[in-house]
Amino acid sequence: MSLEKVCIIGSGNWGSAIAKIVGTNTQQHPTLFETTVRQWVFEEKVNGENLTDIINREHENVKYLQGIKLPESIVAVPSVVDACKDATLVVFVVPHQFVRGVCEQMKGHLAPNARAISLIKGLEITSSGIRLFSEEIERILNIPCAALSGANIADEVAKEKFCESTIGCANVQDGQLWHHLFDTAYFRINVIQDHVGVQLCGALKNVVAVGAGFTDGLGYGSNTKAAIIRRGLMEMRKFGQMFFGDMVQTETFFESCGAADLITTCSGGRNRKVAEAFVTTGKPIDVLEKELLNGQKLQGTLSAAEVHEFLSARKMTAEFPLFNTVYRIVYENAPVESIVRDI
Ligand code: NAD
Ligand code: 13P
Repeated sequence: MSLEKVCIIGSGNWGSAIAKIVGTNTQQHPTLFETTVRQWVFEEKVNGENLTDIINREHENVKYLQGIKLPESIVAVPSVVDACKDATLVVFVVPHQFVRGVCEQMKGHLAPNARAISLIKGLEITSSGIRLFSEEIERILNIPCAALSGANIADEVAKEKFCESTIGCANVQDGQLWHHLFDTAYFRINVIQDHVGVQLCGALKNVVAVGAGFTDGLGYGSNTKAAIIRRGLMEMRKFGQMFFGDMVQTETFFESCGAADLITTCSGGRNRKVAEAFVTTGKPIDVLEKELLNGQKLQGTLSAAEVHEFLSARKMTAEFPLFNTVYRIVYENAPVESIVRDI
């Protein structure tokens, strides 16, 4: 049996934390995987030097995951085509706004039997419809795509603090292979077949986390946060039922990708943090993203706009008051207090 050749597409905060796991597990399963893992790094200068050169010399992504050593099996590559050439397993972990452009460049360069997994938290939503990123990847690259999502704040995972994550994979055999690639003693994976629910949870919880951040900015307490989380979970489930029907299982909301991720993102995530600062400083979101995140990208405010565009095209915004209120606060100058008043 030939060994699986793994590549990672993306090298931000989560991309780097997952590279640590993947680069360790390929070494621990030498009968399944080639040890070396190529990681596509969006090239940029850090202190006048290419980030890829720094990663390959220091074995550390000093910009996006400072202080964490990566295994030497991880090789940073600045060209996405070189990174994915002949890969059989492709891990997608880029902010959702960049997926389509990256996939277009990868066309025709993967091994014929390649499979992918999306760690992206976001949805491709337009007024004409919703597409999951697994579907988008399948459509552009003509390969099957699973999904991984969970309560996984990257910095904590990288420090090996115990957590769980969920893989959604329709094909049971592939699910086991992905399990071998990601599962560790501190990053426990449960594989389920509902890859649709896994991705819906990952995308929509970011919108809820923006709402939770607003309540922190207003100085409200834990009870308010719990109310936002509960209502957010209800809207997430309703969105799944309404637009994906039987393709989404209710049990998925009880996996790590569901309620658990909602709790962790509303407590310690970047969406929460920037939304809190939006209230306390009065600065625009894009300014705060630059000031507070050092190149990392917010997903929740973008997803709020995308969800709003999709719902308003169907005249259904009123059915999702929390999603709608988050949108109105960020984009229409609605008073921040409406986060509790209007939901
Ligand atoms: P990040 O937000 O930390 O970093 C942004 C990345 O985008 C950097 O690698 C940067 O080089 C890259 N980039 C900037 N401009 C680009 C361009 N024009 N084209 C392509 N890439 C560009 O990234 P991340 O945290 O690894 O997020 C990737 C996905 O993982 C997101 O969907 C996120 O929601 C999800 N996720 C993040 C975490 C976390 O804790 N950070 C946890 C779970 C899931
Ligand atoms: P943030 O993007 O809000 O930091 O959320 C990270 C995450 O998805 C944790 O599971």
